[in-house]
Amino acid sequence: MTQLKNQSAIITGASSGIGRAIAHHLAEEGANVVLAARRSEKLKELSDEITEKYDVNVKIFETDVTKKEDVEKLVNGTKEEFGTVDIFVNNAGVMLLSFLKNDHVEEWEQMVDVNIKGVLYGIHASLPSMIEQESGHIINVSSVAGHEVFPSSTVYSATKYAVRALSMGMEKELSRSGVRVTNISPGAVDTELTDHITDGDVIEMFKDRKMDPLEADDIARAVAYAVTQPDYVNVNEVIVRPMHKK
Ligand code: NDP
Repeated sequence: MTQLKNQSAIITGASSGIGRAIAHHLAEEGANVVLAARRSEKLKELSDEITEKYDVNVKIFETDVTKKEDVEKLVNGTKEEFGTVDIFVNNAGVMLLSFLKNDHVEEWEQMVDVNIKGVLYGIHASLPSMIEQESGHIINVSSVAGHEVFPSSTVYSATKYAVRALSMGMEKELSRSGVRVTNISPGAVDTELTDHITDGDVIEMFKDRKMDPLEADDIARAVAYAVTQPDYVNVNEVIVRPMHKK
C-alpha cells in the first residue's frame, strides 16, 4: 500500500491514542509522517517504531498547538524537509468533562485553547500553501460530542461543534481549490483522553458505567480511507460509533 508515496502528512497529538494510530496508518500508505505533540519522548518512540516498520521518512516536532509560533514552525520545518505539506491532521485535543455548576473555568479555557485555537492555528499554518499548490487535505478530528451534547460535555461539545463548523465552512469555501477537508467524529475510543478529567461528579458518574469503546485503530482506518480516495472525491464527514456488545 503506497498510495501516499512522496506525500507528507503532519499529525498533531501523535504522542498517544488516535493520533499515534493515524501516524501508523498513513506511514503504511507510504506517506512521510511528521509527528507533533508536547511529549517529545513519546514521539521519539513512535518515530523509531515507524522507521523500523515502514519505508518512509519521519520527523518529530515538539509542538504545543496552543502556541501559534509552534504550529508555524511545525509547518515550515515540514516544508524544509519534504517540500510540501500534503495532509494536515488536526487531531490534538483535550476532553476535560465537567458540570457547569462546578465552575472549572481554567479547564474550559484549556479546551478552547487546544480544541479550537489549536485547530485554527493548524489551518492558518497549512492552508495558504495548500491553496497555492492547488492540492492538500485537512482532517479535523471533532467528535460525536460535536453532534450531540451529553451531561458534563457542554463545554467540550461546544469546542467540538466549533471544529465541525470549521470543517463545514472550509468544505464550502475550498470546494474549487483542490484542497479537501474531512471532519472525523469518533464515538468513545479507548485512549488516555479521560485520564485528565478532574471533576469528581463526572468521575463518580462514569464509575459504574459499562462502555464498549472503539480502538484508536478503528478511527485511523477512517482517516486512511478519506485520504486515499481519488483527488475528485471529497469525504467530508465520517462518524464512527461503537456497537454495544451483547
Ligand atoms: P489522547 O489523550 O490519547 O491524545 C490526545 C493527544 O493530544 C495527545 O497526543 C496529546 O499530546 C495531544 N495534546 C493535548 N494537548 C496538546 C497541546 N496543547 N499541544 C499539542 N498536543 C496536545 O486522546 P485521543 O487520542 O482520544 O484524542 C485525539 C482526538 O480525538 C482529540 O481531539 C479528541 O477530542 C478526539 N476524540 C476522542 C474520542 C475518544 O473517545 N477517545 C472521541 C471523540 C473524539 P501531548 O500530551 O504529548 O501534548
